[in-house]
Amino acid sequence: MMPYDHAATGYLFAFVLLKILHPALSLDQVNSLLLWSLFWAVAVDWDMIISFIMLRSVRIRNNVSHRRFLTHTPIFGLVIGLSIYFLSDSLYAQYFALVFLASFTSHMVVDSIEIGIMWLWPFSKKQYFLFEANTDSNPYIHESLLIFYIKMFRNVYMRMKTFYVGLVAVFAALVIFFMNP
Ligand SMILES: [Zn+2]
Repeated sequence: MMPYDHAATGYLFAFVLLKILHPALSLDQVNSLLLWSLFWAVAVDWDMIISFIMLRSVRIRNNVSHRRFLTHTPIFGLVIGLSIYFLSDSLYAQYFALVFLASFTSHMVVDSIEIGIMWLWPFSKKQYFLFEANTDSNPYIHESLLIFYIKMFRNVYMRMKTFYVGLVAVFAALVIFFMNP
């Protein structure tokens, strides 16, 4: 999915988490955590770099999907998040870990709308999704990365349900950003 979908939903998840838990942190610290949520929610997809290294090419291929890597599983995010949490020595660092977990979860949720995430890995490699999207047969997989994204966005992504979920998430995140002092 597109980085802006992930950034917006990561921000929303972190915002709700911080609203519910209401930590005794300064406004600057809360704002910095919200910025981190944008970063982490997008950074989950950087495991794509591993597939580029495996293929020795900056191209998208169907046979190596980074969504089937260990780095795209809930258990991976949970282990990293809990490790940061239990190693942290301050309230800010603890919330940093919680915001990481919220952002990672948001990424898994958005990827589960149509693409699918291995929610039960290592017990099962099945990818779970809400709606089936026919992206396997897209004709652009042999294009270079930039062309792939442009063509995918226009001809495939804009017809997917995730596109509309992403627009709503971006709108909601912008409203919260500008309404919240
Ligand atoms: Zn992803």
